[in-house]
Amino acid sequence: MNCNNCNRMLSRYLDRELDQGRASELEEHLARCPACRDELARLAADAEGLRTLESAGPSPFLVTRVMAEVRLSRRSRRPAWARAMATTAALLLVAGGAFAGIRVGTSLAGNGETTDEMLVSADETFAGFTESLLMEDQ
Ligand SMILES: [Zn+2]
Repeated sequence: MNCNNCNRMLSRYLDRELDQGRASELEEHLARCPACRDELARLAADAEGLRTLESAGPSPFLVTRVMAEVRLSRRSRRPAWARAMATTAALLLVAGGAFAGIRVGTSLAGNGETTDEMLVSADETFAGFTESLLMEDQ
């Protein structure tokens, strides 16, 4: 197993959706690959954050509201660290919301392979979004 295959299966591994053979292949890879262990820890933390968001009951307009907050906090002349904190909090909420939307969408579709592909493309979108925010701040 290589890192690519490993990464694609991590979310299903966390959801205990892998069969025994796949799961032990993946565990073997994790045992000798620190990068994939980090990724697993990150996914587990995301899942934990998602449960917290779900229990708080996010509204469908969460992302819009968060982005409005970000724009407002930029306009006011707050110190850089305060804006950085607001941006970080907003990003976490947006990421959690996007993740929740994808999970709901694909559990309706009921196709595990698609879940991973959508997660990958959501990750890429999110990375681009983060970069554009960071660039603006410089
Ligand atoms: Zn790896």
